[in-house]
Amino acid sequence: MEEIISLCKRRGFVYQGSEIYGGMAGLYDFGPYGVELLNNIKKAWWRANVQLKENFVGIDAAMFKAPETWVASGHVSGFSDPLSECKNCHARIRVDKELEKLGVKADEKMSEKEIGEVFDTYKNQIKCPVCGKIMWTEPKKFNLLVKSNLGDFTDKNETPVYLPGEACQGIYLNYKNIIDTTRLKIPFGVAQIGKAFRNEISPRNFLFRCREFEQADTQYFVKPHENAEAFEKIKQERWDWYLKYGLREENLRFKQHENLVFYANDAWDIEYNFPSYGFDEVEGIHDRTDYDLTQHMKFSGVDLNYTDSTTGEKYIPWILETSAGLGRMFLAFLSEAYTVEKLENGDSRTLLKLHEDLAPIKYAIFPLLKNKPELVAKAREVYAKLSEKYMCEFDDNGNIGKRYRRQDEIGTPYCVVVDFTTLEDGTVTVRDRDTTKQKRIKVEKLE
Ligand code: ATP
Repeated sequence: MEEIISLCKRRGFVYQGSEIYGGMAGLYDFGPYGVELLNNIKKAWWRANVQLKENFVGIDAAMFKAPETWVASGHVSGFSDPLSECKNCHARIRVDKELEKLGVKADEKMSEKEIGEVFDTYKNQIKCPVCGKIMWTEPKKFNLLVKSNLGDFTDKNETPVYLPGEACQGIYLNYKNIIDTTRLKIPFGVAQIGKAFRNEISPRNFLFRCREFEQADTQYFVKPHENAEAFEKIKQERWDWYLKYGLREENLRFKQHENLVFYANDAWDIEYNFPSYGFDEVEGIHDRTDYDLTQHMKFSGVDLNYTDSTTGEKYIPWILETSAGLGRMFLAFLSEAYTVEKLENGDSRTLLKLHEDLAPIKYAIFPLLKNKPELVAKAREVYAKLSEKYMCEFDDNGNIGKRYRRQDEIGTPYCVVVDFTTLEDGTVTVRDRDTTKQKRIKVEKLE
């Protein structure tokens, strides 16, 4: 993972947030290649979950929502993690995660007091990650919602408007609008990619646990009790999607939740085997019953019942949710793609074997020599043509070998070289990233 993080920084995929001011914990900025990879993951996800599905639509809801949203959803009262502070150096730990490492369960349903009792038994085995001492305060439940003062000009912040703790609430709030303005009938799905903010106690593991991140969610609305078959299908589709875009089956696994929240019927995580960190959650797939819409109906007073136009039946649909972290997907695809090959001459070659659809740059176009205007002009012509359709890069800097290496490191599937033969017969050499094999083909055939 250290090598991958270093490549991310060195090649402009990911930077520490606010780096020139010393950086901020749990915040990252995507650089020029990072934003391309991120956008390509979003496109691939949107294609599978909106474009290819007849009964799915997408939305993009405002991040700020009525404060009642987070009361109705249960986040104001229950979205908290147990925190303990080192009395010596003030470092904070997430008590449930530290206990988990010792094989001890401390789940969300436990009260502060109950967690305190379990922590008391095991705290002598938990050293402060910063100073190494064992001087812990009593665990306190700490709410993860991030407050803002949007629209509050009083300085008192009496009715905080929260930043979204999860992106999916925007779908629930618009469920009625979607039914009223589209021709969708149950079962149907709504997809959204949106930002989420959580005051994570100890952001860690690079993009894995941040305080600001993006989620790609689908909510599938079904008739009550018609959930089981659809749930299995969704699980399989999401699994296949990861395989399609390059994650290997041996690096993926399903994990069923043992302790369900009171309203949930079933919940599974898709976990990826991250280098250094091991298997951990990339996506959650949840059978949420009618909880979300029932809560919003109660708090808003708006009837959110669905009326079946053929039978006249009225009901609150059940919801099957998929929720994946974009940063975690990004890290999983990068980890899988990161390859170091030993070469025959003893050197090594670093490459990202990214799926073509995900690669930030699809074609890199090189004139063989920088100081031959006719080659440069022809290469620019090829670049202009290909970049109409694809993200391309033009590079005339350094020897060809070095240029290939640079593209290998950012995962460009094809490097195109314009040489003297190009001027004679209109062919270029195309080099394949993974095999390094080269082929001469006509410029018109490049696409
Ligand atoms: P965890 O147990 O790791 O805190 P969670 O179960 O709270 O995650 P969900 O609320 O189900 O996560 O969120 C859905 C997805 O959002 C997760 O599968 C994960 O990919 C992503 N996610 C959640 N929290 C974070 C975070 N702090 N940083 C980056 N991604 C996150």
